Amino acid sequence: MLRDKVALITGGGQGIGKEIAILFAQEGAKIAIFDLKEEAIKDTIREIEQKGGEGLGLRVNVANLKEVEEATGKVVDKFGKISILVNNAGITRDALLLRMREEDWDAVLDVNLKGVFNCTKAVAKIMFKQREGKIINISSIIGIRGNVGQANYAASKAGIIGFTKSIAREFASRNIQVNAIAPGFIQTEMTAKMPEASKQSIISQIPSGRLGEKTDVANLALFLASKNSDYINGEVIKVDGGMI
Ligand code: NAP
Repeated sequence: MLRDKVALITGGGQGIGKEIAILFAQEGAKIAIFDLKEEAIKDTIREIEQKGGEGLGLRVNVANLKEVEEATGKVVDKFGKISILVNNAGITRDALLLRMREEDWDAVLDVNLKGVFNCTKAVAKIMFKQREGKIINISSIIGIRGNVGQANYAASKAGIIGFTKSIAREFASRNIQVNAIAPGFIQTEMTAKMPEASKQSIISQIPSGRLGEKTDVANLALFLASKNSDYINGEVIKVDGGMI
């Protein structure tokens, strides 16, 4: 489905981002990854290469525009273009608002929201010249319904939704589609930190009766990255087992 495409995936070293990277590679795309942990990046690239794919892993902090611009240049030097951007890198620093430190707020907004701005800005220049592109932003159902102890995370993920809808309008005439995925509770390293009792309480609120799998999100990302979704633009699609 993605033959001759080049996909840049942020936070592709582990979790949902890694799942998307490997699926896209299996579908024929060349993969670039921006992530923080050298070892995780190498592991993902190794896995892609073992399956016959081609990848480039770079240690990049998405919150730093200069780093993002330099690294984006390296991706174009190696692969000649960027067809798909998946803004997936994200962090949590949970606390009730009265206990939330200023640095918890800043860190989450810097990575989750400014990171999306930085990567989109850097990649848009390239996509504009190509006159085609797909941008997929990973938001969260928390950005739609909010959550106790996650005001910073919810604000960042709601911000991604407003950003997605605005950029979809701005880029549409250049044949670039911009959509967001709002996952519910997906089994990853991020949710592994949750206490078992909280996990069970969440499962009781999910009509599908289970947490999501990384593949549930990756399969939708693949559809949004493919030609099959060319007339879908500015959407926010939930992958939450019917939770909200
Ligand atoms: P994860 O397992 O923690 O993976 C996130 C990846 O992003 C990590 O490899 C992380 O590297 C990287 N990253 C963090 N900060 C970065 C930065 N400044 N620059 C570059 N890379 C950075 O998370 P996940 O569960 O797969 O989540 C992926 C995305 O889905 C996130 O945006 C998350 O908010 C969203 N989401 C997840 C769920 C869920 O249930 N898991 C639900 C809704 C939405 P380090 O490990 O070195 O920090």
